[in-house]
Amino acid sequence: MSRAGLGRFGVVPPTVVREPTRDAENVPVCPECGHPVAKSKGPQRIEKPDLVHVALAAAFDVLVTFGWQCDRHPYTIVLPMRIGGEDASAFVDGWTGVEIRFADDHVRHVATPEREVTEHVE
Ligand SMILES: [Zn+2]
Repeated sequence: MSRAGLGRFGVVPPTVVREPTRDAENVPVCPECGHPVAKSKGPQRIEKPDLVHVALAAAFDVLVTFGWQCDRHPYTIVLPMRIGGEDASAFVDGWTGVEIRFADDHVRHVATPEREVTEHVE
């Protein structure tokens, strides 16, 4: 069943999480359709995130991350800003890195507010 089909039955489809790509002018673009997404930069919601950490996975239905999104698809595509690892504080103060599985099956760190993680997992 397609993700669009699920939406018709009132089920929120999981957000598609992908690596942002950039065009020749270094503008972030959607990897699926090539649409420039720079204007959407900010906090994004990932519905049903595929979190690697078991305690986190049980705690989060929605994960807030920082990056871009493309709204030109029947499902939401979120493109988290790339961070180096668990330490995201250099990137946004008070945020931390959590591991999430992307649509390409690779696990990468994405930024999320540190307070949410400590509140959920203690
Ligand atoms: Zn797109």
